[in-house]
Amino acid sequence: MDEIDGFSDATAEEEALYFNRSHPLVANGLRMLERAATALAEEPDRFEAIYPVLHLHTATEALLRGRLAMHWAGDIWPAANGDPDSNRRTRGEYVGLGLHEAADLAGRWCDTDIAAARADLLAFAYVRNRALLSSDRDSDSLAAIRCRALPVLDLMLAFVETDVLGQLTEDVADQYARAVRRSMRRVSAATARVRDTVEERRRAIAPQLAHAEVVVPCPYCGEFAVPAGDYTVECLMCGRDFGSSAYHAAADLAPLAVGEPEQCADCGYHSILHNTPTAARPDGEVDVCLYDGRVIRASAE
Ligand SMILES: [Zn+2]
Ligand SMILES: [Zn+2]
Repeated sequence: MDEIDGFSDATAEEEALYFNRSHPLVANGLRMLERAATALAEEPDRFEAIYPVLHLHTATEALLRGRLAMHWAGDIWPAANGDPDSNRRTRGEYVGLGLHEAADLAGRWCDTDIAAARADLLAFAYVRNRALLSSDRDSDSLAAIRCRALPVLDLMLAFVETDVLGQLTEDVADQYARAVRRSMRRVSAATARVRDTVEERRRAIAPQLAHAEVVVPCPYCGEFAVPAGDYTVECLMCGRDFGSSAYHAAADLAPLAVGEPEQCADCGYHSILHNTPTAARPDGEVDVCLYDGRVIRASAE
């Protein structure tokens, strides 16, 4: 039972067990990834939505570290005196890499383009921060969590496919790869359901957004889904309410805290959002009056 080589017709459970023993970080990462994807595909209530967020965050860290461990034959763990101690490792007495350090390292030599996805990883890490910091009243909606989780799920699917399975095909123990593939099929199916819900919502709000002259991005869900041009300002994708007035919205949507938003010469409200991209010009930076729903200053390009 201990030697996978001698067990050519192992059951699925046994394969998973073998895999867990040999690559525990990847196995545990996959388990959490499955759990997160499945939960996000369902309809967890506001109090339960924190768990898939924590699971996905930890799964991503574990998978990246697990891949590094496959390369260096051991988890990446700093040795204070430059001399790794296996007893300390067994007891977990070390500070492991965090998500961003692991992504940095993995990005340097993995085949998956992790660098291109760093902004998505960071945005999801902010979702986790908010999940830990917020009360139930101001927590991210499930829609916001799904929007931010989707690129991370996609990244992990690509990463496991390319970098983890790519490594395992060289392994004599083909059972490892089979266990991973089974897990990935479940993650993939759940991710497809998450994507469906996000796209369904995008289609539902598209007509309303098409009516707005100016649409700015929501810092919570990341979508261009905040139409300007009303006294109340909210994100149609994730439902985030920006202070229920153009005045608060200009402050809440600004990248950094502003004192009092600038007053608009046209309408008189303090409702100017500076240096924002818009749906029409996602790479530009313009000034917008959120109340009037107009661009006050076009970007100099
Ligand atoms: Zn939003
Ligand atoms: Zn105005």
